[in-house]
Amino acid sequence: MATIASNLQAVRAAILESAVSAGRKADDIALLAVSKTFPADAVREAFAAGQRRFAESYVQEVLPKMEALKDLGIEWHFIGPIQGNKTRPIAENFAWVHSVDRLKIAERLSEQRPAGMPPLQICLQVNISGEDSKSGVAPEEIFRLAQEVARLPSLVLRGLMAIPAQSGEAMAQRAAFAELRRLYERLNGQGLALDTLSMGMSDDYPSAIAEGATMVRIGSAIFGKRNYQEGKA
Ligand SMILES: *Cc1c(COP(=O)(O)O)cnc(C)c1O
Repeated sequence: MATIASNLQAVRAAILESAVSAGRKADDIALLAVSKTFPADAVREAFAAGQRRFAESYVQEVLPKMEALKDLGIEWHFIGPIQGNKTRPIAENFAWVHSVDRLKIAERLSEQRPAGMPPLQICLQVNISGEDSKSGVAPEEIFRLAQEVARLPSLVLRGLMAIPAQSGEAMAQRAAFAELRRLYERLNGQGLALDTLSMGMSDDYPSAIAEGATMVRIGSAIFGKRNYQEGKA
């Protein structure tokens, strides 16, 4: 039977293989384990197998989980949609936020980041071609948003994130990742020092790695199928 540890091993091996075939180093690709909807025990199991970075999408769900796991020293990443009235617990509890898509949210996160903590590491979510959710800034608006967010005192702008619509078409999938990479390169050409391309999930991370992903966000390939509906947690 597949266990979390054996799934993790398989994912790490697949990351290595994709990296090698793209002429990249596996060390340049960070694995984020997406533990939303899975209990604290599952996170503990992955941690015991060497996983240190975990990502969550729902604030209500994650706070008790963080409390139960606070002995571990996990690096927590927030990847879900952000409501204006939910920024404080995110600013106070996470190391990274990947889903910032408007200035107002970034300003609140910066204001609410506690003084004693390191700055919050930020990726801007882009609504890249074919994205099936309403989240994310439009590609043509990313340049202005990035410059504004880069100036906020308690944030560090690290890069871009996208969730392209799942497509049976490997080429369409890759094209969306390539588009995100081009935006990232253009931003760096404008003087931003971005180092993070957060793209690739369980079904498509090999193509994301081929297009330059530096962080892949993997849930079901590690923890199994999520069996209650997203958004209810
Ligand atoms: C749930 C989620 C993932 C992980 O999805 P899997 O298909 O289970 O790997 C990655 N990124 C975001 C933003 C998510 O919400």
